Amino acid sequence: MADLTAAQVCQLHDQLMVLREELNCLLADSSASSQPVELDTPIGRLSRVAALQQQAMAKATRAGQQQRLTLIATALQAIRQERYGECRRCEEPIGYPRLKVRPESPFCFDCQQQFEKKR
Ligand SMILES: [Zn+2]
Repeated sequence: MADLTAAQVCQLHDQLMVLREELNCLLADSSASSQPVELDTPIGRLSRVAALQQQAMAKATRAGQQQRLTLIATALQAIRQERYGECRRCEEPIGYPRLKVRPESPFCFDCQQQFEKKR
């Protein structure tokens, strides 16, 4: 069971919508700038390595942003199903302070810790 008041859910819902908007903008921006590195361009070996590294980093950032968007979509769905705020693993309340920092959190603090230890 979640322990959130209607006002808290409403506020976190707004936060999720803003977050989703921001991430969509970031992804749209980065897809424009993450063109493949032209291997034929004579930019020198070092700068080519740097360019590839930069591209790999941009790719990782995008993957993280996309993952976050998925979590946000799941959280918004949970709000509609009135199950928002409960941990998807142990069903205990995630807690408002934690949701305020990361409104898309699907797990309570304890479960998240265990999850990260396993990886
Ligand atoms: Zn849990």
